[in-house]
Amino acid sequence: MRLLLPEALRVRIESEARTSFPRECCGLIEGLREGDVARAFTLHPARNIAPDADRFEIAPDDHFAALRRAREHGHALIGCYHSHPNGEAKPSAHDLAGAGEEGFLWLIASLDAKAPVRLAAFVYSAAVFLPAEIICAVGADLVTSSGKARN
Ligand SMILES: [Zn+2]
Repeated sequence: MRLLLPEALRVRIESEARTSFPRECCGLIEGLREGDVARAFTLHPARNIAPDADRFEIAPDDHFAALRRAREHGHALIGCYHSHPNGEAKPSAHDLAGAGEEGFLWLIASLDAKAPVRLAAFVYSAAVFLPAEIICAVGADLVTSSGKARN
């Protein structure tokens, strides 16, 4: 699975992760999936109602509002994003326990007080998380998560 992520959305997730620090930010990703490629169009930031600092739980009202907006645009909610303050850019055991939708994308932003935000994507499939490639779109130019230019 490849995720086409506009640069502006990547910057916004990083900014939300920084603003929420040391708590987790969270939100939903509006887009479209076509075969092995998912395109992100819009982010829907959500309130994190988890009582613990190292968890996230998207407020149900925000989830429904995001779903409604996506449908109005003829899109779907293709995934979610959240941050791991002082953690790794990979899903935790809690994330796995909370995952359920087959093919749903999980974007995780890890950061600490000083280091740059690292962003990684995973797709939930058959009860596990598989790594997904993030392709950042800067204008018309696409750059893969490994930094290589892509035609
Ligand atoms: Zn997590």
